[in-house]
Amino acid sequence: MSIKNIEAIRMDFPVLHQKVHGKPWVYLDNAASGQKPLPVINAISEYYLKYHSNVHRGVHYMSQLATDKFEAARKTVQHFLNAEHDHEIIWTTGTTEGINLVAATYGRKFLKEGDEILITGMEHHANIVPWQMLCEEKGCVLRVVPVLENGTLDMASFYELFSDKTRFLSVVHVSNALGTLNPVKEMIKHAHSKNIPVLLDGAQSSCHFAIDVQDLDCDFFVFSGHKVFGPTGIGVLYGKTEYLEKMPPYKGGGEMIETVTFEKTTYAGLPFKFEAGTPDIANAIGLAAAMDYIHSIGWDVMEAQEKFLLEYATEEILKIGGIKLYGTSPEKCSVLSFLIEGIHPYDTGTILDKMGIAVRTGHHCAQPLMGRFCIPGTVRASFAFYNTKEEVDALISGLKRIKTMFL
Ligand code: PMP
Repeated sequence: MSIKNIEAIRMDFPVLHQKVHGKPWVYLDNAASGQKPLPVINAISEYYLKYHSNVHRGVHYMSQLATDKFEAARKTVQHFLNAEHDHEIIWTTGTTEGINLVAATYGRKFLKEGDEILITGMEHHANIVPWQMLCEEKGCVLRVVPVLENGTLDMASFYELFSDKTRFLSVVHVSNALGTLNPVKEMIKHAHSKNIPVLLDGAQSSCHFAIDVQDLDCDFFVFSGHKVFGPTGIGVLYGKTEYLEKMPPYKGGGEMIETVTFEKTTYAGLPFKFEAGTPDIANAIGLAAAMDYIHSIGWDVMEAQEKFLLEYATEEILKIGGIKLYGTSPEKCSVLSFLIEGIHPYDTGTILDKMGIAVRTGHHCAQPLMGRFCIPGTVRASFAFYNTKEEVDALISGLKRIKTMFL
């Protein structure tokens, strides 16, 4: 059963109440970015309307107010992830920057020629390229856990690929292209039994269920604000204190120093060591508002609606016939990746758009994964808790029409 107050929830998202090409807009591109509820939009405009000032260095009233709200936002993120300390929360511009930060600091300092970095075959480019850049620079080797036909990881290979040269494991928590929820706790446990740190790419997990970094026991967790119904341009790197403390800074500049002379600079403590320059104050506050909003709705409600939508959509799409689903893991989040036999994904996406339905088509920044399935890309419908059964029905009838147009 779908949740009852869905219409009330949708009222919080003005962007959803529009027409595209004369049809009610059906937004099923949530894996690319989530929509923003009014409390997020209001928190950002309130900051600019009422108390914009730069943070940390000001003695004046508004600067202190902005600093309080900005640091309170960090605490909100700490609780959102159940991190032990607020200094373990580092503001970034998003998932991509978080991974680059870890590769460029931890990786450059602690990895050397011949060391192996383990990732999986379903990584987003953001969790491939920074490691490849590090490999090129340091002579490290990238190892890749293969993906099985149903879109799950080949766990036997995972264990085999761990060697005495493995120095880092970086894994996507939930695949953006397949929806697969990976057995990350098992992977982390194994890596830790060999003293190997683990980074989780949480871009697609942090928007679907509660994250508990202490329970996961990951050493790093990265995600983007815009996927958790917060603003674009802001993200978070969580790192365990023991790792963050021994990592060198990422960028140099104001805010991240303790003292500067022309002879030598000493660095600020955590988290500021990693936050050079004026931070994205407005969007940090906006992200905290998004997290408060999520808690006001409740993960249980959100998860129930998404589960309902995914199950219903999967059932209905398979009834159409001639459609192949990519990613059929029993453990998956609300992503439906598919191809209609004989129809290019771009054609499907373009025609759906004319019907007012927004889906994503292409390689989803996971070209190696598309290569694994020997396809150029898929059509991806991805659901959020504010989507409705009627919207799934619109997608299904759109797909039926497209099939008849081409056959
Ligand atoms: N990893 C995954 C699994 C993603 O889905 C995305 C966004 N599509 C990213 C990383 C990169 O996120 P961002 O572009 O917000 O940095």
